Amino acid sequence: MKLLEDRIRKEGIVLPHNVLKVDSFLNHQVDPELMFEVGKEFAKQFADKPVTKILTVESSGIAPAVMTGLAMHVPVVFARKHKSLTLTDDLYTADVFSYTKQTTNKISIAKRFIKPDDSVLIIDDFLANGQAVEGLLTIIDDANIKVQGIGIVIEKTFQKGRALITKRKIPLVALAQIASLENGQVQFVKSV
Ligand code: 5GP
Repeated sequence: MKLLEDRIRKEGIVLPHNVLKVDSFLNHQVDPELMFEVGKEFAKQFADKPVTKILTVESSGIAPAVMTGLAMHVPVVFARKHKSLTLTDDLYTADVFSYTKQTTNKISIAKRFIKPDDSVLIIDDFLANGQAVEGLLTIIDDANIKVQGIGIVIEKTFQKGRALITKRKIPLVALAQIASLENGQVQFVKSV
């Protein structure tokens, strides 16, 4: 998605440990117009899928997920992050190791928001090693619901997230694919 790549080129800052900072339009300040375009693009790419709900993880997945929900006319549920949980009866939970924070969080979704007849689309801001997506897939498996696809705003193709998803034969769409962040330079795989 050219609009997105242009913004990454213009405003993305490469941090140590292969982290791309895009907090001027996605991870802190949010550009609603760009996110709306992102949402419409995901809606277009997954138009043939019978999606009843969008799932994401707080907080950076919420903006693109809500815009996708708006474009697809379905509700959005975001998994909440907690350091530890005691009362979990009404919750689906999974452990997620955060690549950027180097800590493990539990994520949870209330059982009342996902039902067996749901068919969901996962949306997230970044795909790195796939831990966030893996956590959502654990919840999806526990809830015994179908996953129609995964939409990622920015994929770092040099990390192992994609392999994990394609192994499970889940359709994956990434709107910007970064091949390398070496020497502080953003190299895209190709323009999409
Ligand atoms: P994964 O679970 O795929 O290893 O990492 C995905 C999560 O880590 C994303 O939801 C995002 O919050 C964070 N993340 C991973 N890599 C980056 C990055 O390069 N930049 C930013 N801003 N967040 C990242």
